[in-house]
Amino acid sequence: MRILLVEDEKRMADALGELLRQEKYEVDCFYDGLSGLAAGESGIYDIMILDVMLPEMDGFEIVKKLRQKRVHTPVLMLTAKSGLEDKVTGLDCGADDYLTKPFMARELLARLRALGRRNISTPDNTLTFGDISLETSSATLNCTQNGQSVRLGEKEYRILEYLIANSGQILSREQLAVKIWGFENEAEYNNVEVYMSFTRKKLSFVGAKTKIKAVRGMGYELRWEDV
Ligand code: CA
Repeated sequence: MRILLVEDEKRMADALGELLRQEKYEVDCFYDGLSGLAAGESGIYDIMILDVMLPEMDGFEIVKKLRQKRVHTPVLMLTAKSGLEDKVTGLDCGADDYLTKPFMARELLARLRALGRRNISTPDNTLTFGDISLETSSATLNCTQNGQSVRLGEKEYRILEYLIANSGQILSREQLAVKIWGFENEAEYNNVEVYMSFTRKKLSFVGAKTKIKAVRGMGYELRWEDV
């Protein structure tokens, strides 16, 4: 699960980032409102944690702009203020939850688990598209037409999960690189192609008619041609 953290107090941000990584979340930190908004718009996050008081653009404004752009990623707002008014403003802007500083690590983690559950696509944890289904718990790819299945490697699984979640859209190599490898690693676009070809091999291994199509100069898209 990938988390976007926008917090301008660097020590706080680093400490939070460290805590979340220990809990096996992948975390990208940004220290001002505008870069936080730009990262949020990428649509690659499962949860966003936004501080309210930020340079350039405050957390309320970020979540408002994201919602206008139909980015529905769950948002947890952090603020030093404990006023009811701030809480109401945050929720009115489209935030999903609210935590007042200082807070206990345990409480933050509990809220994140709750928000993460909200984001799971189907109750049985199976993602489907065309003639394939993906079991999220075992990272197994199935072809629904012939019952063939195969286990996916971690990156293959993440690629397919991301493509299914955004089916009908073309995802750029940049989006895929950031989603799978994060901003902090130097996302090497060649990696995307390498793992894309592994993932394609798994699709043909199970005999799926669903294919990953490369759209020239734009990116990749999942297509199912039932012919
Ligand atoms: Ca702040």
